[in-house]
Amino acid sequence: MKRILITGGAGFIGANLARRLLAEGHAVTILDNFYTGRRDNLAGLGVTLLERDVRDGVPGEWDWIFDLACPASPPHYQRDPLFTLTTSIDGIRAVLEAAQRCGARVLHASTSEVYGDPLVHPQPETDWGHVNTVGIRSCYDEGKRVAETFALEHRRAYGTDVRLVRIFNTYGPHMDPADGRVVSNFILQALRDEPITLYGDGSQTRSFQFVDDLVEGFLAYIQADPAALDAFFAPKGYAIPVLNMGNPGEFTVRQLAEEVLRQIPTSRSELVFRPLPGDDPKRRKPDIAWASECLGWRPTIPLAQGLAKTIAYFRALA
Ligand code: NAD
Ligand code: UDP
Repeated sequence: MKRILITGGAGFIGANLARRLLAEGHAVTILDNFYTGRRDNLAGLGVTLLERDVRDGVPGEWDWIFDLACPASPPHYQRDPLFTLTTSIDGIRAVLEAAQRCGARVLHASTSEVYGDPLVHPQPETDWGHVNTVGIRSCYDEGKRVAETFALEHRRAYGTDVRLVRIFNTYGPHMDPADGRVVSNFILQALRDEPITLYGDGSQTRSFQFVDDLVEGFLAYIQADPAALDAFFAPKGYAIPVLNMGNPGEFTVRQLAEEVLRQIPTSRSELVFRPLPGDDPKRRKPDIAWASECLGWRPTIPLAQGLAKTIAYFRALA
């Protein structure tokens, strides 16, 4: 049994991760300030709650820390950009200082947004990205990029065992209905017979990963032997492990809308087009060769199957 802390554990990914870790018999504590997280996600779970802001420090003794605290949907992370930026930077600093103090192993949630509007397709970990430093997404993108650098330099200075995971668009149960991300928006719009809002012409692509696949990847990654990770990354010139995790199945946003409507045939919703937000990446698809070689991990749940489970979750909430 490990003593595990999940920062941001009341959010979407954390709620799924906590369930899986508890099922494995671990002791799980969640640190969250409920900025976007929901108490419902933790109801009856049997976790310990530290209700606080990650920027104010991370108390306690831990074997593993999953560092997820940060709003993730564009409307939420753009609501208070300085909050987002400082959560990324001061948040990882607090987590790394705690890890140094108690010898914990850290898995830090980075993002495919470090690639920005990518010039390389699909995106391998070696892509340095194409990010606007002064756009509406930069509080998130650049915050996450600095957090990666913070992790790298902490590891080089103090030997902190920190592993970076660049998460690509993930969806599933326990997403906040008011989150504003595309999968939850489309499902809820279809269930409520409201217009399905395609931003731009809907031709931009994303690769959608069902959350159970991501959680499996997290478990494989956190348990990986440090020496084996070093043996994998050092010859590549990396002083810190960094892995993409996502599902390489690539869909246009319009195809996603059509699949949602196919799965909810009673819906009277129609597609409507809305202005494309600034700096919205045109194409996104992970190259997962490294995660596959290093951990033997690959996602197994195709979009149609994951959507069916997610639709069932949102139906039950209604
Ligand atoms: P989410 O918004 O559902 O959860 C984030 C959690 O962090 C919430 O519970 C929120 O209350 C908490 N939080 C935010 N700021 C905090 C602070 N200063 N102190 C304490 N708690 C704070 O998001 P999610 O989808 O679960 O994402 C989790 C992590 O994974 C985030 O770091 C996000 O950037 C990353 N990520 C997610 C995706 C995805 O598709 N879901 C993709 C890439 C990266
Ligand atoms: N999007 C959309 N309609 C919505 C919400 C999002 O067309 O109601 C688009 C958005 O412009 C982007 C894609 O869907 O191109 C994914 O958006 P999301 O906010 O889920 O994540 P992102 O990958 O942009 O961070």
